[in-house]
Amino acid sequence: MVDKKIYDVCIIGAGPAGSTCAFYLTQKGFKPLILEKKEFPRDKICGDAFTQRCHTHLERMGIMQKLVDENKGHWTAVGGLVSPSGITYIGDSYAETGSHLVIAVKRKIMDEMLVRTAVSAGSELVENYSVKEVRFDSNQGNWIIKSKQIDQEEYHAKILVVADGSSSSIAQSLGYIKEPPQAVCSRAYIKAGTYNFKYDGLTIIPMKIVPGYCAFMREADNDLVFCCYIIPFGEAKTENLYHLHHDLIKNDPFISEAIGPNAELEQMKAAPIRFGGINQSYDDHLLIVGDAAGMIDPLTGEGLQYAMDAAEIAADTISEAFQNSDFTKNFLKRYHKQWMKSFGKDFKWSIRMARFCAKHPIFLDAFASMSLKKGDKFMVEWGKIMTGSKKKINFFMPKLAFPLAFEVLRLKRRFKKSEHAE
Ligand SMILES: Cc1cc2nc3c(=O)[nH]c(=O)nc-3n(C[C@H](O)[C@H](O)[C@H](O)COP(=O)(O)OP(=O)(O)OC[C@H]3O[C@@H](n4cnc5c(N)ncnc54)[C@H](O)[C@@H]3O)c2cc1C
Repeated sequence: MVDKKIYDVCIIGAGPAGSTCAFYLTQKGFKPLILEKKEFPRDKICGDAFTQRCHTHLERMGIMQKLVDENKGHWTAVGGLVSPSGITYIGDSYAETGSHLVIAVKRKIMDEMLVRTAVSAGSELVENYSVKEVRFDSNQGNWIIKSKQIDQEEYHAKILVVADGSSSSIAQSLGYIKEPPQAVCSRAYIKAGTYNFKYDGLTIIPMKIVPGYCAFMREADNDLVFCCYIIPFGEAKTENLYHLHHDLIKNDPFISEAIGPNAELEQMKAAPIRFGGINQSYDDHLLIVGDAAGMIDPLTGEGLQYAMDAAEIAADTISEAFQNSDFTKNFLKRYHKQWMKSFGKDFKWSIRMARFCAKHPIFLDAFASMSLKKGDKFMVEWGKIMTGSKKKINFFMPKLAFPLAFEVLRLKRRFKKSEHAE
């Protein structure tokens, strides 16, 4: 009998977490195996917003230049916010900073670019391979990975990286996640030339879904992506997403105006969001990365930047584990500690913020109102904190918190006066 090949690393899932991890492993001399249940190019339901922390990885992978050369990404510059009470701020973040906070790229394009880059760099990819079962053989010290299709071969690997997304059947089967994802988000593309929307991106926070929100983002082909994020802590319930998505498109004055009467909208699609980070993302011979480990910001529902950051940390940790011939959970724990330090601890602040906004939506009005007074610089600062380029604790620093508190008082008086006038 021919001895079965034993891979150093097998990665389950070729989303941004899995492909980025594979790429960084190749840079350290590994030839990881990626198992992916779909075939590329494949769609992934997403808002397609790649924020600044992603840009570093995209540049290192040589993808950013390709996106620019092939005109596959759209940089957001002009856009802003509509607050729960309808205070609207539109600015130009590029004019203020000379750099872009977000590039929008359809996931059908981006995920294929990511995985092909990982493959060109030396990874092995098996598509149409839906992992059904993983089992650690303690005699051999390897994982045995099996497909749902009995005629597909099984694979063996020293380290398993679980990167199979927010529902992660693998992390569930191994007992690392026990709860379902807490949030949900819809997506509908709107065909180029059929809508009224004039900007690059816009966040709208309708009162009925605070602390959730809706977002528009312009794509490189001028299609528009519309998403509706239902985040817990407020009154909107995740099970009402279908109704809320359609109700807001029809009845919210800002959303219906932006879409217009002749828009050709894709049918709503939706996917779950697991946020806040899981308690244990490592074990003997095992790491869990990206959405599978709940690496989504509870305030924004965004996770691409954290999936990619954690993927790099995972690759570093795996390389160190091989250098030390130590694959124990005691050694691999450093991965969990590292991502917690990099962004995971911030998720606690995001939860506080989301709860606070749900209770006091006027805070979001105050923010929009202050942006009107202070301009793009203020908006960009906010954007950096929201997207994880700066820590969330900055929201609570006197420099930002005091002026916002004053603005809240001023708005309360203004709203009261207009109530009396009516
Ligand atoms: C509607 C919506 C909008 C969003 N918008 C944004 C946004 O604008 N910006 C942002 O930063 N984040 C956004 N997010 C979050 C973002 O999509 C995720 O954080 C990101 O996709 C995480 O990447 P990942 O690689 O961990 O998981 P995924 O992208 O889900 O990739 C998982 C991969 O694993 C594969 N897979 C699953 N099971 C198996 C199996 N058993 N065997 C083999 N392969 C398997 C899947 O096919 C997939 O390719 C949004 C999420 C939703 C739901």
